[in-house]
Amino acid sequence: MTTNANSVAERARELIAPVLSHRATFDVVKASGSLITTSQGRDYLDFSTGIACLNLGHNHPDVVQAAREQLESLWHAGWGTYLYESLVTAAERIASVAPRSVEQVLFLNSGAEAVEAAIKLARKSTGRQGIVAFRGGFHGRTMGSVSYSTSKAEYRQGYHPLVPSVFVSPFPHPFEWGLTQAEADQLAIDELERMLKYEVTPGELAAFLIEPIQGEGGYYPGTNAFLSRVRSIASDHGILLVADEVQSGFGRTGDWFASQVLGVDPDILVMGKAIANGLPLSAIGASKEVFSSWKPGSHGTTFGGNPVSCAAAAATVDALTSVIPGVAERSEYAFRAFHELGKTHQTIGDVRGMGLMIGVDLVDDKGRPSQEAFRRIAAGAEQRGLFILPCGPDGNIIRFIPPLNVPMSELSEGIEILADAFAEYEEGL
Ligand code: PLP
Repeated sequence: MTTNANSVAERARELIAPVLSHRATFDVVKASGSLITTSQGRDYLDFSTGIACLNLGHNHPDVVQAAREQLESLWHAGWGTYLYESLVTAAERIASVAPRSVEQVLFLNSGAEAVEAAIKLARKSTGRQGIVAFRGGFHGRTMGSVSYSTSKAEYRQGYHPLVPSVFVSPFPHPFEWGLTQAEADQLAIDELERMLKYEVTPGELAAFLIEPIQGEGGYYPGTNAFLSRVRSIASDHGILLVADEVQSGFGRTGDWFASQVLGVDPDILVMGKAIANGLPLSAIGASKEVFSSWKPGSHGTTFGGNPVSCAAAAATVDALTSVIPGVAERSEYAFRAFHELGKTHQTIGDVRGMGLMIGVDLVDDKGRPSQEAFRRIAAGAEQRGLFILPCGPDGNIIRFIPPLNVPMSELSEGIEILADAFAEYEEGL
């Protein structure tokens, strides 16, 4: 089928399934660092980072070089065919920076696929079926991963029946609930304990599946107080703690993984997104003991652990080593700036997160989530040259995720643009 329409947008409208909608009003022809260039020749600061994949920014030279060299020597092998250097190098690099329990790594393609693998492994390893997920969590779009995802009811609408034996317990949302963090943590633990009393016995559970900091669901960070209680309940009952760090991994929260910032060691770590700085790759990590329940044939995939993606992953870890120490300074700068803005802009209801995974929760004059505020502030920012994404079930939270190596000048420029967009929005109220 051909089309006569000319612009990328017109051709996409004709040929690309409409489920893929686009937030930006432009299409992009090239990118470098924090900047993207549109087909109209305009540059934008890109603080969407490919939905938290480009932790080193676009086209990081070391990652490009590693991928290019691999592309020219071997670009595909296929799961279960033969070994190649980049597979093992990438695993070595990841195991060296991951939480203590990660002794081995298995590479896959996408975050959802890694979540599926983690749950299959947890079931095989424990011989149990039940899964506890946490409300507001997001784990992907496949039938299994969407069954554990409760970041927005729309993501599940029309797909029931979902995978059975999934139990959903609250994740602390202090701002949404109007509680202090300590009260919200306690409430969430109380509810988890009630669930284990009223709904399912712990001995039937294979895994607690949790994002240590919720992403899609609204950038709600877990705390050590909450997660260490979840960890100890899991350990007491032989339940595996599966940390989904697809969005929070690879330096985003100021350390390699949010689990390390929060001081909780998971049994299975789920990784994706920034693992290869934007090339498709995901992974799960666990101890040798947990992986030993899988025999050859227990799991598989054709493209998982692609040689080029693995070469990019190893280069990404190497490059992040010198970038991650700079996250704290950028994070403090951004939090201070947003808290300062919050004093004069009533639209800012809450600022929260960890490292450079920051949510700015926008509300109306009654303190209710305001998608309209996000829509208009994001449009104002786009007019001024900054591209951002939302998160949260109401689509009202600014998902502030610049590259981790964003120059301070671009970080402050991005925040100034947002400040102008806030002012313009509030003047019009
Ligand atoms: N888990 C988390 C925490 C995510 O944020 C996402 C994607 O946003 C996924 C899993 C699914 O990853 P993918 O879209 O690569 O399947």
